[in-house]
Amino acid sequence: MAFKIGVIRGDGIGPEIVAEAVKVLDKVAEKYGQEFDYTEILLGGASIDAAGEPLTKEALETAGKMDAVLMGSIGGNTTTSPWYKLPANLRPEAGLLAIRKGLGLFANMRPAYLYEELKAACPLRDEIIGDGFDLVVMRELTGGLYFGERRTYVEDGIEKAVDTLTYGEDEIRRIALRGFDIAMKRRKKVTSVDKANVLDSSRLWRKIVNEVAMDYPEVEYEHMLVDNAAMQLVRDPKQFDVILTENMFGDILSDEASMVTGSIGMLSSASLREDSFGLYEPSHGSAPDIAGQNIANPIATILSASMLLRYSLNLDEAADDIDAAVKKVLEDGYRTVDIMSEGMTQVGTREMGDLIVERI
Ligand code: NAD
Repeated sequence: MAFKIGVIRGDGIGPEIVAEAVKVLDKVAEKYGQEFDYTEILLGGASIDAAGEPLTKEALETAGKMDAVLMGSIGGNTTTSPWYKLPANLRPEAGLLAIRKGLGLFANMRPAYLYEELKAACPLRDEIIGDGFDLVVMRELTGGLYFGERRTYVEDGIEKAVDTLTYGEDEIRRIALRGFDIAMKRRKKVTSVDKANVLDSSRLWRKIVNEVAMDYPEVEYEHMLVDNAAMQLVRDPKQFDVILTENMFGDILSDEASMVTGSIGMLSSASLREDSFGLYEPSHGSAPDIAGQNIANPIATILSASMLLRYSLNLDEAADDIDAAVKKVLEDGYRTVDIMSEGMTQVGTREMGDLIVERI
């Protein structure tokens, strides 16, 4: 049976890095006797140029028929690109929000992994890093403060603003289930992050996470207050496997976790829902400053393809192969310009893709 993979090449470096990820997918397809059927989907600036809007109804429908979607990144130079002269709802990023919402992707997963070979880029001290860390932030993506009621008003001559943080038990349960499922594929530890000493929404969060945890006796789990979690991420990131948290806390903690690895060109991400469908993309943007020069690092996108195989297609062995090939390429001393250091061999986007393919 052929798996249906949607491919969004996107803008800026998107087409270059996606081409390398597809090359890697083709290699594992050949090795494992799988068939991948690719369908091109337009999103962001590319879709504005072709169809006058960042996501067409047809493109969303096509994406919904896929087993999974692999994406580069979208957007252009926000000061000079004509896309940013358009009203906000017609700009490239509006397409990204619309596809996530339209496909019901409520769980965002961002791994933060420190490669031994790239330790020098990590801003933490050697004794904290130890032999590295490997964690994922599982963030609720469609509820909480960012989606609650909000308004700005004047009362007794004073301007005031209110935002509302609302969560239903159903929203908490489905993301918690996703978090524990992911932990079962990893080191079987969940740290649920909340602010239960202050917020009602966090106390409900904790109650539902406790209920979900009962069905995962193999998973070790703990609760941690968000202020402490922010400190622990820089004090001892090794302690974490899966950090499970609500939308705003996850927004902040996932960026903090990415920063402590020090290498933006290496970080993948996935947006998931209850079934196996997911949208996979690098954590970085479309880097218009280096587009078309064959210097962008394709590894974040290649690792996103690996996540796609693992979490949407259940092809764990093929995903392991890709992860190992990336590690081997770094061990062998090859670097794109963003992760280059003395004594290493600098290669371009296509060469990096070829070197990874050779090692699968
Ligand atoms: P960016 O992540 O594109 O770039 C930040 C810096 O990192 C740049 O100097 C860039 O050259 C470098 N960089 C990023 N990815 C790299 C890679 N793979 N290899 C080597 N260097 C890399 O962020 P930005 O400049 O703030 O945003 C550029 C555009 O991307 C904007 O239009 C923004 O809205 C968009 N964006 C899109 C997404 C997405 O598609 N999910 C996410 C973030 C930003």
